[in-house]
Amino acid sequence: MNELTRSQALFERAQRVIPGGVPGIRAPENSVPGAYPILLERGSGGRVTDVDGNEYVDLLLGYSPIILGHGEETVDRAAAECAGRGFCLNLPEAVMIELAERLVSIVPSAEQALFFKTGSDATTAAIRIARTHTGRSRILRCGYHGWHDWCLEADPGVPESVTESVESFAYNDLDELADRLARRAGEFAGVILTPIGHDFDRQIEPPAPGFLEGVRRLADDHGALLIFDEVRTGFRVHLGGAQALYGVTPDLTSLGKAMANGYPITALVGRAEVMAASRSTFISSTYFGSSMDMAAALVTLGMLEREDGLASIRRKGESFHRDLAAVVAETGLPVTLSPYPEMPFLYFDPALEPDQPERRDRFYGALARAGVFAHPRHHGFLCARHSQRDLDRVLEACRGSARAL
Ligand code: PMP
Repeated sequence: MNELTRSQALFERAQRVIPGGVPGIRAPENSVPGAYPILLERGSGGRVTDVDGNEYVDLLLGYSPIILGHGEETVDRAAAECAGRGFCLNLPEAVMIELAERLVSIVPSAEQALFFKTGSDATTAAIRIARTHTGRSRILRCGYHGWHDWCLEADPGVPESVTESVESFAYNDLDELADRLARRAGEFAGVILTPIGHDFDRQIEPPAPGFLEGVRRLADDHGALLIFDEVRTGFRVHLGGAQALYGVTPDLTSLGKAMANGYPITALVGRAEVMAASRSTFISSTYFGSSMDMAAALVTLGMLEREDGLASIRRKGESFHRDLAAVVAETGLPVTLSPYPEMPFLYFDPALEPDQPERRDRFYGALARAGVFAHPRHHGFLCARHSQRDLDRVLEACRGSARAL
């Protein structure tokens, strides 16, 4: 069993100077307290090491940004070169244009691009632009789009006046969307959704046949813009995102995560006519133009294109998925498997057994102690540098943890 003494000691120290010690979703209570490390120290390829020196096969990959592997030398070198000559200058550098050109050539909906730091920045810019372009304020949303006021529900600190113009609809439910659009016809600026259903604590859900096409048609019928939030699916399920995989093109797309192998950069792309609205509202931040992350993105995208990176991650995922299915069949684990092999997830569906949360925590706790870092309630990811040895270790740990149940 892994020692976690240093993790615990640092956590106690952290609690004195940081509210809760570890903020947000990374707080220990969101994994399996006592079984998971609280602080990590290093990452290399498909593995991470915690502050006690325990090494884990990393199936969470920073919640997706790591698409090649931790410490990918070519990407880090490009960023370091940029840092060495100054990367926070008063005006943009040419790398911004090159990166925008690359996105325009890769992503179907991209005629123009704007760059940001976080996924929340990119989705919030999409909403601001949709409202400016249409002169309307209501928004329909489906999925997680970040932490900003407009996309939360009744969370403390979020004024009702902000969220009353935003409605939610259920993924794969065209009737609900049609209903909501019709009830306040002419008021909607945009419909934003994750084109693949990947909510927290749910199994990943692919679009039902005709769903994305239906959303496109309904948005058009109501004069609302269609926005795909591809912060997670972009450069992951296909180089051109889920829109390229499923052949449905939105007006605007938020992108991020896998774009720069961990460097903080995101983008909003879309039709030039719509993107033009960004010039008549206010979208600006000190760090949006920093070139280091743009240089990292260019190298990451270049590697994914040249090395057939996503196809090889998918092939690896398909064989891993078959092996996982065999382990599940052999051990009778009460889980469902993710339909996307590049985003694996053993999900303890509450519909399958009544005491799933407890089983889930025992299983994932045992996995962590066996050296596999996977989130109990969030699907995982594969990266280019995961080796067969890494994946075999995961399979073995799954077998052992299932038996321990
Ligand atoms: N949209 C989607 C689909 C996401 O998965 C996330 C992050 N999980 C966001 C938006 C928000 O991104 P960030 O956490 O970088 O603000």
